[in-house]
Amino acid sequence: MKCSFCDKPAVYYNKISGLAYCKAHFIEYFEKRVKKTIRKYNMIREDDRVLVAVSGGKDSMSLLHIMLKLKKKMPKLEVTAMLIDEGIRGYREKTVPNLVKYAERHAAKYVIASFKDYIGETLDEIVKSSFEKGLPYMPCSYCGVFRRYIMNVVARELGATVIATAHNMDDVVQTFLMNLMSNSWERIFSLTPVRQADSEIVVKRVRPFYEVPEKETAIYALLNDLVQPEFVQCPYVKYNVRYTVRKIINELEDKYPGTKYGLLRSLLRLTSLVKIEAPRKFNACLICGNPTSRLICKACTYRAILGLLDEHSTSRVIEAAKFDVSLARELREAGVHLNTSH
Ligand code: SF4
Repeated sequence: MKCSFCDKPAVYYNKISGLAYCKAHFIEYFEKRVKKTIRKYNMIREDDRVLVAVSGGKDSMSLLHIMLKLKKKMPKLEVTAMLIDEGIRGYREKTVPNLVKYAERHAAKYVIASFKDYIGETLDEIVKSSFEKGLPYMPCSYCGVFRRYIMNVVARELGATVIATAHNMDDVVQTFLMNLMSNSWERIFSLTPVRQADSEIVVKRVRPFYEVPEKETAIYALLNDLVQPEFVQCPYVKYNVRYTVRKIINELEDKYPGTKYGLLRSLLRLTSLVKIEAPRKFNACLICGNPTSRLICKACTYRAILGLLDEHSTSRVIEAAKFDVSLARELREAGVHLNTSH
C-alpha cells in the first residue's frame, strides 16, 4: 500500500479515516495531532515546568520526545523526565536503560525515584510481605497508589507546575470501563484530558495522548527509534483486571472499528455534564502533605498498614481514624489495632 500523500510505501493505515501514511507523513500527522490536543485543552503554557512521567516504554518515551520538540519552539519551557523505579525484578531493569540512553543522546534532564527510597521497600518486597500478612490488596493497587504518591512528592521537590502522563486513548477508555464496573463515578469524572491545580497542593495533570490510540504511539516510538521492539511485561500483570478489559475492547474494535472513539466521546460527554458541580475539594494529608479527600492519603494508609511509617506517624494515622469512618474500617480490615498507640 502507498502513502495517501506521496509515492512512498505506507507504514500505517488508519481504518477509520481510510488514510495511509509513509514514515515521514505519519510522524508529521502524529505530532500535529498531539500538539492540537495540547492547544485544544490549554495543557501547557510557555513558561511551565513540566514533569513528564516516563516508564521507559513506548508511550512515555514518545511523550518525552514530543515534549522536547515542543521545548525547541518554546525555550522558556522546562522539561524533566521522571522515572519511578518500583523495584520489580526482571521488568524495570529492561526499561530504565531506554530512558537513560535517550536522555544522554538528547541532553534531557531526568530523575529516577525509587520505591525503595521514597516508600522504604521495593514493590517486590511489599507484595511478599502483603501476601504473608494476608492483606486484601493486589500488587497493582500498591503500585498505582505509591506511584501517584511519589509523583506528587517529586513534583513538589522540583517545583513542577504540570505533570504530563502518557495515558493514551486505549488507557483512558479501559479505565473508564473499569470504573464503570466498580461504580467509581468520582474517578470517571476525573478522567479528563486536564486536571487543574485548583489548590496549592494539587499540581496540574495533563494527558497529551488522550485522543491518540495506543497503536499510533507505538508506531511513533518505533519509527523514532525510542524503544526496542522487544515486548517486556510486568510479572504482576495477571492480577490486573485492566488486561482482560483491554482484550475485550480490542476485540470489539477489531469487529466494530470506531468502538474506542465512541467510548471516548461518551466519556467526554459525561465529564462535561458534571463540570457545573463544585470542584472536588482536597486536604493535605496529615502525614505527607499530598492531596487527599480524606485526612490521611491512601499511600500513607498503606504505609501504616505495611508497617512502613515511623511510630509517631502510625499513631497519628490511628488517631485520625477516630474522625474518619472509612479510614477506621480500612485499618481494621487490614488487622491494624485501633485501640493501641502502636
Ligand atoms: Fe504496576 Fe500492576 Fe502495572 Fe505491574 S501491572 S507495573 S504492578 S500497575
